[in-house]
Amino acid sequence: MSEFKRIEDAGDLTGKTALVRVDFNVPMDSGRVTDDTRLRSAVDTVQTLRTAGAKVALLAHFGRPKGKRVPEMSLAPVAAAFGEVLGSNVHFIADCVGEHVQRAIDSLEPAGVILLENTRFQPGEEQNDPTLAAEMARLGDIYVNDAFSAAHRAHVSTEGLARLLPAYAGKSMERELDALNAALGEPVRPVIAVVGGAKVSSKIDLLKNLVKQVDLLVIGGGMANTFFAARGKPIGKSLCEHDLLGTAREIEINAQASGCEILLPVDATLADAFSADANTRTITLGEDIGEEEMILDAGPATVEAFEAVLPRARTLIWNGPLGAFEMEPFAKATVESAKAVAHYAKRGELTAVAGGGDTVAALNVAGVAEDFTFVSTAGGAFLEWMEGKPLPGVEALKV
Ligand code: AMP
Repeated sequence: MSEFKRIEDAGDLTGKTALVRVDFNVPMDSGRVTDDTRLRSAVDTVQTLRTAGAKVALLAHFGRPKGKRVPEMSLAPVAAAFGEVLGSNVHFIADCVGEHVQRAIDSLEPAGVILLENTRFQPGEEQNDPTLAAEMARLGDIYVNDAFSAAHRAHVSTEGLARLLPAYAGKSMERELDALNAALGEPVRPVIAVVGGAKVSSKIDLLKNLVKQVDLLVIGGGMANTFFAARGKPIGKSLCEHDLLGTAREIEINAQASGCEILLPVDATLADAFSADANTRTITLGEDIGEEEMILDAGPATVEAFEAVLPRARTLIWNGPLGAFEMEPFAKATVESAKAVAHYAKRGELTAVAGGGDTVAALNVAGVAEDFTFVSTAGGAFLEWMEGKPLPGVEALKV
């Protein structure tokens, strides 16, 4: 990844206005923010800019209003919640562009903070409309993007503005990009990728990219079944995408050509129903499986095989659970493997980066999210980055 501009590169910002794209798409219940993690992660950027002398105008989206003003998707309650998190007043204006917004910004106290209304109320936002971008750019002197989770979108607030104003990565964005670069950009080798989850179909591009980049690819979860079936192994009633057996074979061939080893589970926990109180048994893969039985987790020998490769790994990137971890009897492989990774990461012997919605939930079940080097809460953006796709919001920050 080539270098990107950081806030420090902007120099003295006295009297300047920074337009700052944040991720305030927070969970809400009856107008109250129920989880302020995303608000807290914006504090560092906002305070850094204020300390450098800037006024801060925050840009964010909330929900999917599709270019219309939807009162339930107003960011007004978020302004108050962010004020509490920041420990200072956060103004709010019910628009994100126009003369009155300009006046509200002009009348801010020095180092004042204002949250502008949901950018997606504007029809031009998601179309990256140049007229809207030019109008919005007039509101500020510099642009800062602190929303990695929205960086896979080329919208006015994530990409268009960066083309019109001096553009910098905010602190959260910076941490995310540095971690991702350490994991796949310029990683210390050997590099292991762990990919699990339900289906091959949602991760074809990701698997194809990873086999070119990493030394060992660990495949688990429901998607491993498609690989077993492609190898001619019995899988009973397990989740399997029979139309993708060719794709699974192709990925294995590509891996071999790139010198990437593939580690598939060697044993499994079988269940007679997709249920936490199903009858279960452990088998070595390749053995017969009943027609009504399904693979819902990897077994202990698989975890052992995984643990055996960890001591020589220097970098690990993880997306997707190794089993149906939401049900306790099928969480073992995910939990134990995550704990093993955390053990080396905590000792500083392994750079361990994980991301994707279910992955974060799985690491929390294992109680080790804090011990990983970096856990990305970005869903779509993290996956597109693992797929090797350029993220428009990141590309626009590059020097
Ligand atoms: P994904 O969103 O593709 O990462 O998939 C995550 C989902 O895959 C989780 O809800 C898991 O319960 C599910 N999953 C993992 N392993 C299996 C399996 N062997 N059979 C069925 N579902 C699974």
